[in-house]
Amino acid sequence: MTTATDPPPAARATTSRTGDVTAAVEAARRAQPGWDALGFAGRRKALNAWCALILRRSDELVDLIRAETGKTADDARLEVVLVAHHLRWTAAHAARVLGRRGVSPGLLMFNHAVEVTHRPLGVVGVIGPWNYPAFIPIGPVSAALAGGNTVVLKPSELTPRTGEWLMATLAEVTGGTRVLHVVTGDGTTGEALCRAAVDKISFTGSSATGRRVMAACADNLTPVVIEGGGKDAMVVAADADLDAAADAAVWAAMTNAGQTCVGLERVYVVDAVADRFLGLVTERAAALRTGDGPEADLGRIVLPRQLDVIATHVGDALARGARAVLGGPQSITPPYVAPIVLADVPEDSAAVTDETFGPVLVVNRVASVEDAVERANASGYGLGASVFTRDRSRGRSVAARLRAGMVSVNAVIAFAGMPAVPFGGVGESGFGRVHGPDGLREFTRTQAVTSQRFRPLMQPTSFRRRPGTMPALVRMVRTLYGR
Ligand code: NDP
Repeated sequence: MTTATDPPPAARATTSRTGDVTAAVEAARRAQPGWDALGFAGRRKALNAWCALILRRSDELVDLIRAETGKTADDARLEVVLVAHHLRWTAAHAARVLGRRGVSPGLLMFNHAVEVTHRPLGVVGVIGPWNYPAFIPIGPVSAALAGGNTVVLKPSELTPRTGEWLMATLAEVTGGTRVLHVVTGDGTTGEALCRAAVDKISFTGSSATGRRVMAACADNLTPVVIEGGGKDAMVVAADADLDAAADAAVWAAMTNAGQTCVGLERVYVVDAVADRFLGLVTERAAALRTGDGPEADLGRIVLPRQLDVIATHVGDALARGARAVLGGPQSITPPYVAPIVLADVPEDSAAVTDETFGPVLVVNRVASVEDAVERANASGYGLGASVFTRDRSRGRSVAARLRAGMVSVNAVIAFAGMPAVPFGGVGESGFGRVHGPDGLREFTRTQAVTSQRFRPLMQPTSFRRRPGTMPALVRMVRTLYGR
């Protein structure tokens, strides 16, 4: 039996062959009309029951996540809390966001009534990463289900059992009817899912894999949501509450041992307060412990090859003149990496330009907040960002200038704990949104139905229109809009 202290498995998943993937998609397709027929109220009831079951058995899920990822108990507990929070919101708000609504036909077509509905796409394929094996998939899975779709989930090959646990618990509350199917395996299973006859793919993972997913989906014109990687930056203004900023920076950079897509990897701090900020960051980060036990703050680095990326970024930065304020290459003791804080790192070095995905924080001093914004935006990624300043209105105006999908003012990663807030990035970080109303609409097709209530006196859209109709219409439009 696997326990939370076993090393995380490498490539444990048994590979689903293309035939298995096709069978799962077909089974999901068969289950879809019945699930859709439950309506919003029926699906809400089932999803709420699933949420309650997950919470009743949350210790089981925490242990499973820990066994597959090696994360600390608190990191796993936080993940389960977020699962419940998002699932419950999605179930509660699907009817309001996706339900039938009337739309004004406008003056020219006033004789029509219009209704807009959001119909399910059919079967949605969800491809997930290993770093949050329950929380990340639950966003697209719950939104797709709430909208009346059924789902085939391909978890990371490192976390198949978490995916299977989600499938089994949902089947318990749907009376054995599988509306969520799981196919396991490596990238070839993911590719097979992209090429199967699914109606949309929601992909979360690295930007490089995202490109392969899009290429595979292109053959069938299957639409995609891409939630790619990130290189999130924090801007610290001279008037910031430095204590709060340092506390937030250390948590955002080190939680889940730095393996968070919206984890903090860069800080741009205004020169006047840079030394004090660095001192506070270093003091807090130095107190963190790695390990598997209950006292640990940072668990393992899950992917062995990520250790090489971390070592390369740190080594390259130091060779190019960066200062190791805390830790350094010696902090890398597989499977753990203790917190590393680097200062004065060249902006064109890999530690600044590429996703490190480990507990490494780059802190660079800048002349002004404007300078900080410019450097933060110089990245190809654009996922999350944060701003610390005591002037909240200034914080919001800085946020507006940051090229990022989500920005927190005087907090970090706050948006991830808010189920109503759309989540997603720009550029290398991808496109499309999960969470919130946008995330719900992402897995539906919008249909507009117009119905003529009575025949109008003027009928411009007929070859049998009267000779005076078009001049009268042009006169009317000029009167209305020509000023
Ligand atoms: P990968 O890109 O390696 O894998 C993501 C998923 O895609 C896995 O299930 C993987 O399978 C699968 N996959 C691999 N190759 C293919 C393919 N050719 N076609 C279809 N699917 C494929 O990412 P990681 O699992 O390593 O996750 C870490 C990355 O995810 C980081 O870059 C991180 O920033 C990003 N991420 C982004 C988030 C966001 O919301 N924007 C959230 C969380 C993470 P397998 O694992 O079996 O190889």
